Amino acid sequence: MSITQIDKQYVANTYNRFGIELVKGQGSIVTDSGGKEYIDMGTGIGVTAFGYSDKEWCDAVTNQLTTLQHTSNLYFTEPCARLAELLCKKTGLKKVFFANSGAEANECAIKAARKYGMATNRYKILTLENSFHGRTLTTLAATGQAHYHELFTPLTDGFLHTPANDFDALKNAAIKNDVCAIMIECVQGEGGVISLDSEFVKKTYELCKNNDILLIVDEVQTGNGRTGKLYAYMNYGITPDIVSTAKGLGGGLPIGACMLGDKVESIFAYGDHGSTYGGNPVCSAGAISVIERLDDEFLNEVTKKSEYIFAELKDADGIESVSGMGLMVGIKTTASAGDIVKECINRGVLCLTAKDKVRLLPALNIDSDTLKKAITIIKEVCYELKK
Ligand code: PLP
Repeated sequence: MSITQIDKQYVANTYNRFGIELVKGQGSIVTDSGGKEYIDMGTGIGVTAFGYSDKEWCDAVTNQLTTLQHTSNLYFTEPCARLAELLCKKTGLKKVFFANSGAEANECAIKAARKYGMATNRYKILTLENSFHGRTLTTLAATGQAHYHELFTPLTDGFLHTPANDFDALKNAAIKNDVCAIMIECVQGEGGVISLDSEFVKKTYELCKNNDILLIVDEVQTGNGRTGKLYAYMNYGITPDIVSTAKGLGGGLPIGACMLGDKVESIFAYGDHGSTYGGNPVCSAGAISVIERLDDEFLNEVTKKSEYIFAELKDADGIESVSGMGLMVGIKTTASAGDIVKECINRGVLCLTAKDKVRLLPALNIDSDTLKKAITIIKEVCYELKK
């Protein structure tokens, strides 16, 4: 049987995969089992922040792998402690809980908010319509898109949703329902790569500050340099109480982090929360090698590449609009996004979709020539398939 047949027979039926089998990668180029090369503009959905087989990341990971691969959280290890220190020093947040995924980082944020609210008899959490926060039953409840909920009710109680960028609706609902936390994505990724308005985010931050409501920013997709800042909230001049992240943090290994600010740094006591793999030394070593490199000079390059992409695509034929921030780009094409992505694959470029858009999440260190090649092909396809 071919790999495709084995996968179809034995892997649970949750993913509608493209008909290609990927076998190796180098930088922003990935190769399939037939030897065909693709420029990867999706990076495993925003994960391989420095591309494939990045030397620094591989060295960090393999050195740790052959030294001490796992200990459990019963013991101290250097990579876990150093990564927490690095994240806190770079953000000003005070403590980190490590998990294995974005959904789990959000679960931790929600548990922190629940415990914080307990003292004042509050447990409700407000999130935005069209948001995406994960696939566990609680993070599904947090997710403001009803179609994800339908088959899995009843979900965890206590979540309400108001429209993105409607501050009055958010304020009224938050006050009326006595919420303990508001959770937002600064750029709604799965929702179609839509940035929140600056004024809405600032007002939400002020509302939270003045009413003892925790502000949780879900940086699972937007974090770790993706938007041209270390974390997307830094584009808005706000200070969240809790920041969750994952994806690009590990650079290709599973890790999530829930960062806790002043108000909640001591919210958890021994035994309140835990994860066998949380802060695993190998994943933490990989994450250190990612985060250490995201300095101002590198992030300025991310912004320059972003400006190039937006300038190229903005008025191109077959493209209605371009949204997003940094190297998180949504393209509304006149043809269907699915058709564009399929044709891009035929021509050797891997893209993603987000709702009705083509979504790009290239490696942060993609070189200009490769980026130019990919954008040229995407433009050609949008033009040729235009409606
Ligand atoms: N939050 C956001 C904003 C996401 O984009 C995602 C995944 O796409 C998640 C949470 C869930 O992350 P994971 O799939 O790692 O559980």
